[in-house]
Amino acid sequence: MCLHLCALAACAAALQLAAAQAPLAPAAPQPRFVVVLDAAHGGDDPGGRLSNGQAEKTITLALSVRLRSLLAARGIQVVTTRESDAAVDLNRRAELANHANAAACLSLHATESGSGVHLFASALAPAQPARFAAWKTAQAAWVTRSLALAGVLNSALLHAGFNVTLGRAALPALDSLACPAVAVEIAPEIASGRDSGHAPSASLDDPGYQARVAGALAAALLEWRTDAWRMEAARP
Ligand SMILES: [Zn+2]
Repeated sequence: MCLHLCALAACAAALQLAAAQAPLAPAAPQPRFVVVLDAAHGGDDPGGRLSNGQAEKTITLALSVRLRSLLAARGIQVVTTRESDAAVDLNRRAELANHANAAACLSLHATESGSGVHLFASALAPAQPARFAAWKTAQAAWVTRSLALAGVLNSALLHAGFNVTLGRAALPALDSLACPAVAVEIAPEIASGRDSGHAPSASLDDPGYQARVAGALAAALLEWRTDAWRMEAARP
């Protein structure tokens, strides 16, 4: 630990020296890119009861924490709706997300049914952005971008070898969000193949499984950031 810290301090000193010697050049401003992670449920709302007696709220928080640290390590600014086993109502979650002016918002859920990862975009019909969008249907102006985000998440998860189910659903948690938003529901991993039966090969509380899902979601969000920056650069 000490060695590590000392190495960091030496590195920081070297960087400062380099900065002092470098000619002053204006740094290109990086476009803002914020991701909101919404660990669904919490506090007195346990969500679904999972097979080993764990509550859904515990898995969603674990996934949020993993994904947050992966994104932060890649320089992505993350806003979370909760960091502990706290009750946060849906309006408060939407307020947090909308205030963050997020480039992507993932609402995280967990279920024992199905397998792999289920992605849901809002079922609202796409609408033109309005100056004062109705709170309960704010997502309508973003549905097209949300479907594009779901597509990027889908590709990254498939690439990482997961079963993915894509769908649209009437989800109040998504419908008030004024940003590209997708509900990500993690289910146990069930290996395909005739001999595998239906026993999960990875359960929801398996740390390795959670880490693999978080890794694929982080890869998708990095891709989404590259796309966002490209769009920003192409703007006249
Ligand atoms: Zn849920």
